[in-house]
Amino acid sequence: MITLDNVSKSFGKFQVLKNCSTTVERGEVVVVCGPSGSGKSTLIKTINGLEPIDSGRITVAGTDVWAEGTDLAKLRAKTGMVFQNFELFPHLSIIDNLTIAQRKVLGRSKGEATEKAEALLERVGLADQARKYPIQLSGGQQQRVAIARALAMDPVAMLFDEPTSALDPEMISEVLEVMVQLANEGMTMVCVTHEMGFARKVAKKVVFMDNGEIVEDCTGDEFFTTERSERASQFLDKIL
Ligand code: ATP
Ligand code: MG
Repeated sequence: MITLDNVSKSFGKFQVLKNCSTTVERGEVVVVCGPSGSGKSTLIKTINGLEPIDSGRITVAGTDVWAEGTDLAKLRAKTGMVFQNFELFPHLSIIDNLTIAQRKVLGRSKGEATEKAEALLERVGLADQARKYPIQLSGGQQQRVAIARALAMDPVAMLFDEPTSALDPEMISEVLEVMVQLANEGMTMVCVTHEMGFARKVAKKVVFMDNGEIVEDCTGDEFFTTERSERASQFLDKIL
């Protein structure tokens, strides 16, 4: 579903991604972890066309992301991205947050988009919040809206960049529950997260990054047993 083949990228003289290669199969959950500054956010942004690469190749559902002529707006709709800070449209109601791209990018009618939005709000437990504005919701609620908004585009994969790290502890689980449910329904997911309980529960694969490199790319089972590398073990010791 998603392939990265020898992806490299620099910001000026600083090489943030060094020959990164990995694959994500359809229906698979891959957790990406690693120290701050190791390149996790940059990596995930290269997949949905937010951060260009210098060399290598990335494909999503057969589309070469960085080939000339790729429609990046379409690609971004296909790969729903959820950020740490929700990034909802503050001036739009919750329901409008969920319908605007469906109408503008996918050309759905108002009725169709609204129906889809209401079903998704129901699914993330926020059916009664549709007329409110983002600022009126808690962080956990806003993040669930952000997930529903991404799902409204019928993505082929979902990309999460530390979706719970800006949340108060009591709100983390409500967001993780939605993510676990998605995983169990067979959604292809790439999740940058340090929630190792979540990783243990649903990760088919764990990618560990350090210093712009993919140091470890193994099954969840391998990562959570002793078979992981020394560097990954040191990292886990620090965060657990
Ligand atoms: P964190 O865990 O803190 O979110 P990360 O693993 O997501 O870190 P990135 O955000 O991908 O790391 O950043 C990797 C490195 O690239 C960092 O050293 C960062 O300062 C640098 N970097 C990121 N974006 C830019 C940019 N637009 N211009 C210059 N340097 C950048
Ligand atoms: Mg980051």
